Amino acid sequence: MALNLIFLGPPGAGKGTQADRVAGSRGIPKISTGDILREAVANKTEIGLRAKAIMDRGELVSDEVIIGIVKERLDRADVAGGFILDGFPRTVAQAEALDGLMTGRSPLIVVDIQVPDAELVRRLTTRLICGGCGANAPEGLAAGDTAAAAARCGKCGGSFVQRADDNAAVVLERLKVYQKNTRPLVEYYQQRPTFCAIDGTQVPARVAAMIEAAVDGVAGTAVVGGGTGR
Ligand code: AMP
Repeated sequence: MALNLIFLGPPGAGKGTQADRVAGSRGIPKISTGDILREAVANKTEIGLRAKAIMDRGELVSDEVIIGIVKERLDRADVAGGFILDGFPRTVAQAEALDGLMTGRSPLIVVDIQVPDAELVRRLTTRLICGGCGANAPEGLAAGDTAAAAARCGKCGGSFVQRADDNAAVVLERLKVYQKNTRPLVEYYQQRPTFCAIDGTQVPARVAAMIEAAVDGVAGTAVVGGGTGR
């Protein structure tokens, strides 16, 4: 059965890192709407040009644009065995649209990674990504460290940089936006038998183990055609 996962949780909870791990261990694609948008910005496409200012402010790109991106991505053949959505849905309207896109597919498994705000601010304002390919820097490298300045990306050889939206002011705005728009998705999903809450404060390997166990635990309850697919 296809494993269709979404990773909820605030910015900095570790969704991207964990989605990469699970994508690797299960052999399914990770679909990050943030990565897709950053690529569009880098390529100066029409969507990228429109999204850049919104992203730089820490606000959300319109539901219409994001739903269009995800719809098109879920039409591709490589999601037949499953997928992991990282950073989508972020609003109730997006979650409703996703439910519509799930008709005829295995039900969603929802992984909510929970981390307190103070820890999120610390993580986001020190994290690094590759300036070349956007991959996360290895664990232990933090913005401002001398080791980080000399390190190179294992995937493309690029150097590590801070994301444009990982400065203190924008981080606070993104956390506010999360509380207002995205946090309600916990209520939206938590009654489903396929919802799992994960303590994201542990080291990444431990969080990964908890996610793998939780996904295996609920996957059996996600029977195709089970009522509304919810
Ligand atoms: P992320 O990499 O997931 O933190 O996303 C970076 C930025 O891209 C966000 O702060 C938003 O501006 C935009 N973005 C990514 N995913 C979405 C989404 N599902 N809905 C609206 N905006 C999004």
